[in-house]
Amino acid sequence: MLELKGIKKDYPAGGGVVHALKGIDLEFRASEFVSILGPSGCGKTTMLNIIGGLDRYTAGDLVINGRHTDNFKDRDWDTYRNHSVGFVFQSYNLIPHQSVLQNVELALTLSGVSKKERRKRAREALIRVGLEEQINKRPGEMSGGQMQRVAIARALVNNPDIILADEPTGALDTETSVQVMDILKEISRDHLVVMVTHNPDLAERYSTRIIRMLDGVITSDSSPLSDEERKLELKAGNEKAAREKNLKKPSMSFGMSFGLSLKNLFTKKGRTALTSFAGSIGIIGIALIYAVSQGMTTYINTVQEDTLSSYPITLESQHMDMSSLLTTFMGTAESAEKHELDAVYQKTMVYNLINSLNSAEAQENDLRSFKEHLENTLKDEESELANAVNGVQYTYDMDLQVYTQSSDGTIIRSDSSALMQDMLIEYFGMDLTGMMSMSETYGMPMSSGMSISTWQQLLSSKNGDPVSPLLHKQYDLIYGSWPNDYNEIVLVVDENNEVDDMSLYALGLKTKQEIDDLSYAALNKEEMNTDHRSWSYEEICNMKFRVVLGSDCYTEDKSTGTFTDLRETQTGLKYLYDNGIELRVTGIIRPSEDAVSSMLTGAIGYTYMLTEYVIEHAKESVAVERQMSDDSIDIFTGLPFKENTGKMTDEEKVEAFKSYIASLNMKGKAEAYIAIMSIPSDEDLQKAVAGAMMGKTRADMEAVVAQVIAAQTGMGEDEIAGYLAPMADEEISET
Ligand code: ADP
Ligand code: MG
Repeated sequence: MLELKGIKKDYPAGGGVVHALKGIDLEFRASEFVSILGPSGCGKTTMLNIIGGLDRYTAGDLVINGRHTDNFKDRDWDTYRNHSVGFVFQSYNLIPHQSVLQNVELALTLSGVSKKERRKRAREALIRVGLEEQINKRPGEMSGGQMQRVAIARALVNNPDIILADEPTGALDTETSVQVMDILKEISRDHLVVMVTHNPDLAERYSTRIIRMLDGVITSDSSPLSDEERKLELKAGNEKAAREKNLKKPSMSFGMSFGLSLKNLFTKKGRTALTSFAGSIGIIGIALIYAVSQGMTTYINTVQEDTLSSYPITLESQHMDMSSLLTTFMGTAESAEKHELDAVYQKTMVYNLINSLNSAEAQENDLRSFKEHLENTLKDEESELANAVNGVQYTYDMDLQVYTQSSDGTIIRSDSSALMQDMLIEYFGMDLTGMMSMSETYGMPMSSGMSISTWQQLLSSKNGDPVSPLLHKQYDLIYGSWPNDYNEIVLVVDENNEVDDMSLYALGLKTKQEIDDLSYAALNKEEMNTDHRSWSYEEICNMKFRVVLGSDCYTEDKSTGTFTDLRETQTGLKYLYDNGIELRVTGIIRPSEDAVSSMLTGAIGYTYMLTEYVIEHAKESVAVERQMSDDSIDIFTGLPFKENTGKMTDEEKVEAFKSYIASLNMKGKAEAYIAIMSIPSDEDLQKAVAGAMMGKTRADMEAVVAQVIAAQTGMGEDEIAGYLAPMADEEISET
């Protein structure tokens, strides 16, 4: 179900503001034929464009099958426009030199289906609008009514839920208008059709519902939804959303593996991550040399202890030998060929980098046995290990979900890394989401060093005290007390009693708007408007945080017996928040002046007890119990799991590859394109995408990339080669 809730739209105009929409509340049925009538300038087009995701609303909310769009990203809007909406305009917008069939087919390249399938679907859509005889004609050889029908076929071919038509008959005479209306009427039997028109007679005769507008508001609605209908429509919409979610999810695992082998090599971030790892070894080395030169052995011990606590020895369940990658990266690799020192020679780097990334195989560590061993050894106070080790911390593949209420009232995830990723996408078009989780998947050592997470577990002592003596040494307690239970946390400030603004956002003390203002100021090179805000220790200790158990996010729909994710709506989020585990800030800590290095990088420290509490309680959830009781049925769909989930068919791999490419921004696409072209042999190319394109040639892969780009930009495949190749050359010569 599509719902408009208090939608307002303001346009800045000549110093003033035009209030094009002044608060529109509407609900639409999944299939009906709605006509919008009203004088010119009353906001009809504006409303249609907002419904179709072509324009953003200023206030209010557009809810699509239960999903709020107020925090939609550009990419979400793209997906919505590409999969759920078809547009028909007064002008037909057909490409004159392409045939009718090609014009309709073009719209399908967006969804990346095969050429054969595209042709088949385009033909079906044209049959539906009664043009099967005309498919090879060019638009110029057709009447206005026929051209508009081509446009309708083009809108239909992606099988959208909604057809939006803005004065589709505006340029047609009465007779041809009737043909167009007949088709729209037929379509509205299984689609929502919303049409703006100037012709009340046509609206009266064909549509099932007439909405009149005046001056940015709705003045009448011939058939609003009854309470009963609303309930039914909402339920059907939610079910549809749940089904689609399972269908459309692109394969992360594949995107990641492709991304790791190709994309990251070409991004600065990838390089930085490796340098920071190399750097972490360096810091300890330098600190030691410094200490030795000072001739103080006790100091050496402190330095060792403090620096090691910031860069602890980490064992992960998966391990990859990165040494060959590092030597290659740092340019210390052996030179392959002998030559005189009489000219400048080439040293292979790109090839070696990709090769070492590819051949590095992940090894599994038996952490379960090791943990047992560790626990037993540490019990023995005499053991060498017990004397050498300061503390052991276990981390689990657990997503600690903490929420808080921001000062503007919205409920937000208390985590600055999510904000950081959003900002990178919003302002620079970089999407590092895959990158972050990838680093963890591949056990790359940067996950601990580069953490920008707000929440961090405190190191406990060897005997189970929630706070290790090392922390007591490194930090001064400046207010309250150290945490001592699962629901107790501390705020970590820096030497100057400051907390960075990013973390302040995550703590709910700064709003997204304030963060945006700062970002805009920086982008526009404006003076920063520093407000000297401060919070009293008491205010800090009154902050409210709630932990939501992953398993609690799913609620059972009694009628269908399936589960839905409550986090998808603000109402659901509010419910989860209100019922979450309440956390209490018990104190504030600051690095002590004597500490060489302090181990906490987050703004909030919690105890291992919270981790254990969350793990224990997740087991009790209804959703988990249900899933465990029958592991063959997916509780979200009520359907059996697809067999053999780990293995993808070749077709699925190609689809995954396409959605991965489609998810990249233009620069990312160019990089993928360059990457493919710069791999020397076809064999290596095959390896580089982890066998994902098995049996596919280089030409196939280039074609896929080009096809996806064509769909998103509307460029022809030839044009793309012309467009990307120079970009690629530039990049290569730079390298
Ligand atoms: P309709 O389709 O009903 O004729 P519109 O939705 O196009 O009306 O426009 C509603 C109001 O918003 C008009 O006053 C129009 O001038 C104004 N408007 C529409 N688009 C813009 C824009 N991009 N910038 C400024 N004002 C706009
Ligand atoms: Mg208009």
